[in-house]
Amino acid sequence: MICRHCQREIADHSNFCYFCGARQHTAQTARSARRLMRSATDKKLAGICGGLGEYFEVDSTLVRLIWVLVVVFTGIFPGVIVYLIAWLVMPEAPQPLPQDVQASQPAPQSNP
Ligand SMILES: [Zn+2]
Repeated sequence: MICRHCQREIADHSNFCYFCGARQHTAQTARSARRLMRSATDKKLAGICGGLGEYFEVDSTLVRLIWVLVVVFTGIFPGVIVYLIAWLVMPEAPQPLPQDVQASQPAPQSNP
């Protein structure tokens, strides 16, 4: 493989370049670094759609929208079963630091 930084030949599957020390971002290392988990912060029900959004690096709102459309057009029941299975199978992501939780909570609003 070729280093992306200095364009010199290095051994296949190297994590770092021998010549310039640049980190080599291969598809394999990127995939093994992240896991499919339920989101601890971005959740409406169980965090399934938030976790999928984090995994595929897309907006979780888009994932929810697609999920709802799929559920509606498949007749509700299969989608709900798949959601419950995902809830059981997917581990929950670790809770973030307390200041992150406070920052993500919406400010209390006064409803006239
Ligand atoms: Zn290099």
